[in-house]
Amino acid sequence: MTMNQTKIVIIGGGFAAAKCARTLRTKLSPNDCHILLFSKENHMVFHPLLADVAGASLHPDSAAATLRQMLPGVECRTESIHLVDTSAAQIEYQNDQGQSERTNYDHLVLACGADSNLSVIPGMSDHAFPFKTMGDAVRLRMHIIQQLEKAEASGSPERRKFYLSFVIIGGGFSGVELAGEINDLVRESARFYRNFAEDDIKIILVHSGNQVLPEVSPSLRDFALKKMKKVGVEVLLNTKAAAATTEGVGLPDGSLIRAATVVCTIGTTPERIVQRLDVRKERGRIVTDADMRVTGLQNVWAVGDCAYIPNAFNNEPCPPTAQFAERQGRQAAANIVRVLRGEPTRPFYFKQLGQLCSIGGRRAVAEMFGLRISGFFAWFLWRGVYLLKLPSWSRRIKVGLDWGSDLIFPRDLGTLRMGEAQQLAGAYYRPGDFIYRQGEPANFFYAIEEGEVEVLRSTEGNQDSAAFAFLGPGDFCGEAALLQDPLYEVSIRARSVVRVKAMSRNIFSGLAGTMAPSRGILVELVKRRSQALWQHFPASKEALSKEPLSSFLEPLPSRTLKPESTLDQALAMLNANDLGFLFILDDQQRLFGVLSAIDIANALVLIVATPVDSRRDASKVQVRELLSADPVTISSDDSSLLAATTMLEHGLSCLPVVAGKNDYHLQGFVQAEKITYWQLQKLGKETLTGAPAAVVRDDEKIQRRTAGSA
Ligand SMILES: Cc1cc2nc3c(=O)[nH]c(=O)nc-3n(C[C@H](O)[C@H](O)[C@H](O)COP(=O)(O)OP(=O)(O)OC[C@H]3O[C@@H](n4cnc5c(N)ncnc54)[C@H](O)[C@@H]3O)c2cc1C
Repeated sequence: MTMNQTKIVIIGGGFAAAKCARTLRTKLSPNDCHILLFSKENHMVFHPLLADVAGASLHPDSAAATLRQMLPGVECRTESIHLVDTSAAQIEYQNDQGQSERTNYDHLVLACGADSNLSVIPGMSDHAFPFKTMGDAVRLRMHIIQQLEKAEASGSPERRKFYLSFVIIGGGFSGVELAGEINDLVRESARFYRNFAEDDIKIILVHSGNQVLPEVSPSLRDFALKKMKKVGVEVLLNTKAAAATTEGVGLPDGSLIRAATVVCTIGTTPERIVQRLDVRKERGRIVTDADMRVTGLQNVWAVGDCAYIPNAFNNEPCPPTAQFAERQGRQAAANIVRVLRGEPTRPFYFKQLGQLCSIGGRRAVAEMFGLRISGFFAWFLWRGVYLLKLPSWSRRIKVGLDWGSDLIFPRDLGTLRMGEAQQLAGAYYRPGDFIYRQGEPANFFYAIEEGEVEVLRSTEGNQDSAAFAFLGPGDFCGEAALLQDPLYEVSIRARSVVRVKAMSRNIFSGLAGTMAPSRGILVELVKRRSQALWQHFPASKEALSKEPLSSFLEPLPSRTLKPESTLDQALAMLNANDLGFLFILDDQQRLFGVLSAIDIANALVLIVATPVDSRRDASKVQVRELLSADPVTISSDDSSLLAATTMLEHGLSCLPVVAGKNDYHLQGFVQAEKITYWQLQKLGKETLTGAPAAVVRDDEKIQRRTAGSA
């Protein structure tokens, strides 16, 4: 770069950025202007063709074009920008050594698009495929084909149907195109498999509105809907997805659409650099003046999906589409050239040419130049238009050949194995969902992050599987099977909304094998749990499962604490009661926590151990600070067996009883001693010898779960 060259920096490598860079290069000589383009990937993704990639009718590299090859004369850098400093006219990125580096600009064009946002629906980020990048499309395609293979290998008709069910969330262009492509891929490929037929396949499009494709005219929407149904896509309108789990998609009424594949095509969020930029925004997008200059800044421009640009054609904000992004990129480049030449800029003006959407089954809907077309001709037009829109002849020929062969030959069902066994993934469950079932292959170890699960076990000849223990945040499950048994010995079912971290067998074995402390903890846990499974003490188990919990229920203590009560108040109250623990209730009398004598003693030791000048007064420490996790509770409709096992599992001598699974109003508590005494009376001493019931360790009178208690 020479001294008097203008430096124009572009952030982005999509439709808007590529068009802007190319237009600038054609209008400005390389001697006058240095164009530097930063993009996270080294290629531009042609989003309208992503559905074809996922549906295996197009090879991934046909729908992406390498930026440096398509933009001669532009310096292309594959680097992610993490900061824009408009006051210093600089951008910041991480270089290959991991250090922050800055470069300055005379003009900056922000064309960084938007990111997908799966956090709009609980569980989506754990269980649904996003659909935005080439990586997303390739992963989805492999996953779909793997489901066909699993269905082929499965001996259970129910599991087969599960593998062959695909839910697509969002009835906009990308959702409809994707549903069509998946439908074509799966149904056309069914003939190569012996173990299932087309009837086993389900493709479901879930859309919250009352019509799919809200962007096109009502008659075309109706056509699209009719044809989609005809080729086998089930469309659920006015249906909002409420959650995604390993089992499928939960709906607001509590029902579940079972499916092994969920794809989410809705939800976007601004890129991080846009979030961090201190300029005016509208729904997360950067507000620009009519000429696309960022409002309030002279030499910063914003185009494409990251920008909120008024269209002078109709005075409406531009929609986030490729058509608009491309035009904005071109017109912003022209305006920058005008500024450099001292000419007035022009407002963005664009009359949309039309809309095209493929709906599967070699059909499409199109609205172009005032004409509405649908069916095979529209589909042919759709392909023709996108072929011409591709950025280079090499892409056009590649895509043309792929599409040509797709008309003649079946789709490619090959998959690459990507080391899927090495995983640490989050998972989300709704109340009642099974995390795993007894007898299933033990492939994962789970750590509970949020919510409660119940442990169920059915014995031979007895399918009754009432919960006999439950686990909460900080607890884990799945370890016994992973250490000792290839199959899970119990079932684990969510009692409330549950989030877990699931660790594959390989990662788990590696950790347990190399980290001595974790191995020790696990061995101890497995020992305790295997004792607690009651199988050696059927009489004890039987008796407890029949005895109502109310038999053991102790009334609420007359005095309780509030979260803001202080340590000295807690100490005084503990002295006045002989239970060895205190309940903490919130303003609505719901259980907030349980404080044990040990917690109080620990807090006092900590105070005494602190140097005098920074030591806190016991009257200034609130009891809420002493609680490290939610209390373990049981609800009044749970069984005595569950209470006894839970105390044993957590090493508790007392368990608070609340009104219901989601109602934390405290009803009273049960004590291990009382259960033990009852068993002694009822079953005789010999039954209890070595029995797990309420033989709770005296040294652990801990009423509150801590991470260590598991
Ligand atoms: C599946 C799908 C199908 C679609 N179908 C159609 C269609 O049929 N018709 C239509 O008109 N529109 C369609 N769209 C919308 C269209 O793709 C977008 O409107 C268009 O891509 C926006 O272009 P853009 O240049 O603003 O952003 P993008 O094309 O998203 O490009 C953003 C670029 O910025 C880069 N970037 C982001 N952050 C940084 C950073 N910090 N540092 C460096 N680089 C960064 C990214 O790597 C990317 O290259 C579809 C979108 C999707 C997801």
